[in-house]
Amino acid sequence: MEMRKTVLNCPVGDEQKSEDPTTTELCEKTAQLLGKESAVFLPSGTMCNEIAIKIHTQPGEEIICEYSSHIINFETGGPSALSGVMIRALHGSHGIFESSQVAEAIRPSSRYAPKSSLLCVEQTANMSGGTIWPLDKMQAVTTTAHQSGLKTHMDGARLMNAVVKTGVSAEQYGNCFDSVWIDFTKGLGAPIGAVLAGSKDFIDHAWRIKQQWGGAMRQSGIAAAMCMYALDNNIDRLADDHHLADIIGQKIIKFKGVKTVLPIETNIIIFDLEPSAPTANELVKTLAKKKILIGAFGERRIRIVTHLDVDPSASKILIEELAKYLDY
Ligand SMILES: *Cc1c(COP(=O)(O)O)cnc(C)c1O
Repeated sequence: MEMRKTVLNCPVGDEQKSEDPTTTELCEKTAQLLGKESAVFLPSGTMCNEIAIKIHTQPGEEIICEYSSHIINFETGGPSALSGVMIRALHGSHGIFESSQVAEAIRPSSRYAPKSSLLCVEQTANMSGGTIWPLDKMQAVTTTAHQSGLKTHMDGARLMNAVVKTGVSAEQYGNCFDSVWIDFTKGLGAPIGAVLAGSKDFIDHAWRIKQQWGGAMRQSGIAAAMCMYALDNNIDRLADDHHLADIIGQKIIKFKGVKTVLPIETNIIIFDLEPSAPTANELVKTLAKKKILIGAFGERRIRIVTHLDVDPSASKILIEELAKYLDY
């Protein structure tokens, strides 16, 4: 695979000392892409979120996130364990909430209440079906937060899916936030790595936490080279994933065993099964035997994600296999 070949000749050095040229180049390119002064390479998107929360808050404060967000559901309580903060969850519509909800959630300053200190937004909204935050809504919620003195952070794990779909630049989305990151291991297809970006002061601080939490590396260029390949080659092709997801969604909505399909805007298909259909876990197990990997969330909810290893023939097989159990 072309991506793996980039590792053989990439220049490397000690990343902890900023002496790894490949990692430095990746960070500079990503900072530029996101319209930020500086950036830092991290092993995972989860670490990007948790480091940002640590920097933007003090123990005892409160952060605002959407109910279905990765920060709330998939980071093992990191915000409370690592930063000592509480989370105020907002119920969005398919992951998207309104600035009026933010205004309501921000606590008035008081001797009693925790201080609201950070607003987090997920682009695209993963567990709500990969929905895209429109730029104007993003501007509205972050402006509301900033006006009350909160910091703002974007979980941009799939930001580039939104960019490819809407034509709005990563920088335009990024401009709304104090910190933002992208993941190279989702649709972009690299094996390791995410880059967190922000002001120079923010990134200086992020480096200290990265060192403290054991995320600083040595010859990280071998990972960064593959991320760079993803940045240079795998962004435009995200449109193919969106196209396939759309086709899959249109087919499965017609199956009798499928109750509802969430609106499909990018590369994520989430649907709920009828009581007469197999349970989500049964379906996942059955398809796994055919080497088709899909996810179960709760008893009746299925999530399917298209990515660069799923081509039209694979998606055809997926539809045929699903039809066997759901099209009765
Ligand atoms: C995958 C994901 C993360 C975490 O990224 P990792 O690189 O897996 O740690 C965070 N947020 C969202 C929305 C994600 O989809």
